[in-house]
Amino acid sequence: MKLIRCGDPGKEKPAVLLDGGLRLDVSAFTPDYNEGFFANGGLERLQQWIAGRTSPHLDATLRLGAPIARPSKIICIGLNFRDHAAESKMEIPREPVIFFKATTALAGPNDDLVIPRDAQKVDWEVELAVVIGKRCSYVPLERALGHVAGYCLHNDYSERNFQLERGGQWVKGKSADTFAPFGPYLVTPEELGDPGKLGMWLKVNGAVRQKSTTAQMIFGVAELISYVSNFMTLLPGDVISTGTPAGVGFGMSPPQFLKPGDVVELGVDGLGESRQKAVAWEK
Ligand code: ZN
Repeated sequence: MKLIRCGDPGKEKPAVLLDGGLRLDVSAFTPDYNEGFFANGGLERLQQWIAGRTSPHLDATLRLGAPIARPSKIICIGLNFRDHAAESKMEIPREPVIFFKATTALAGPNDDLVIPRDAQKVDWEVELAVVIGKRCSYVPLERALGHVAGYCLHNDYSERNFQLERGGQWVKGKSADTFAPFGPYLVTPEELGDPGKLGMWLKVNGAVRQKSTTAQMIFGVAELISYVSNFMTLLPGDVISTGTPAGVGFGMSPPQFLKPGDVVELGVDGLGESRQKAVAWEK
């Protein structure tokens, strides 16, 4: 099953993307894909509710929002690919590196990327994001994947000056509005299959910058869920973004960063594609 949300920002309606591209409006079943939806077995009940239905449907030209409502947490994993740790001139982590991204950074998959005020070094990161389906803490490794609601494509946009040269934590460089385009859709685990062997790619202005697979991750999805849950309770709808491979702008020589007018396109196998155009910040 593929979950989408369609409509203007803040007014998105939940829908299911059917084979053939029909957007089945499910707002009569649930007001949104939020914590309550996932916590109350919404996915299983929705699967039954949509069986055989083809209406009402939503216009295929409506804007896509992020496929989930704003979650309680967006947790990101840093340096989870050896080649990216190397290009960042940082050590291979012995344990997962965790940082937060403000939940207000969440955006639709094809929304413009707003370059923040005073930004100098806006950079891209194609990632596999995991959406949690059940409240959990201290999850054993072998039960970790049972806590997944689904998977999404994510571009973990970063401002490297804010992140690395302004002191303190990475969160400053990760949290601007539009820095977390999600989707186009959330794909449920039974439809996606193994999250550990998905091709992933990203282009800037048509040139391939990142090309890898989730098989190259140092810590896999199950390990990350189990690990993070040792330090905080995960709530239904929470996101863990699992890290990016080599090929980001600040690893290039000379480094390359985004400017207004640049177009970033990305995809992960089974999770669709997204496209963001960079625009300047305006008051
Ligand atoms: Zn990242």
